[in-house]
Amino acid sequence: MKRIGLVAHDDMKDAMVAFATAHRDRLAAFALVGTGTTGARVAQGTGLEITCLKSGPLGGDAQLGSMICEGQLDALIFLIDPMSAMPHDVDIKALVRLATLYDIPLACNKATAEAVLAAL
Ligand code: PGA
Repeated sequence: MKRIGLVAHDDMKDAMVAFATAHRDRLAAFALVGTGTTGARVAQGTGLEITCLKSGPLGGDAQLGSMICEGQLDALIFLIDPMSAMPHDVDIKALVRLATLYDIPLACNKATAEAVLAAL
């Protein structure tokens, strides 16, 4: 089963829950893994089963990066807040870099997330 990573910054979490709700049936066909708060919000909002890692600022982004390195993540949906500075900016950049380096589908907004989901 292919595995999708889910991450949304705080101002994007409602958008992530809305996305997951709209595509619930499709997402149910994948193994889902999320950073702590994102994963919990999506699980609560949709009933989907999600493996929750640590919260992003506490290392969850780094955990997802490690999964990419190990070949354990097939796509990443990462709803980045384009309007706010983040304390864990280095982790965010590292995660985007690893997704780029290992050439996995990476969606940073809803339109691309829908395209990635359709393509997987
Ligand atoms: P969170 O982490 O899902 O635990 O809030 C996301 C993030 O990296 O900000």
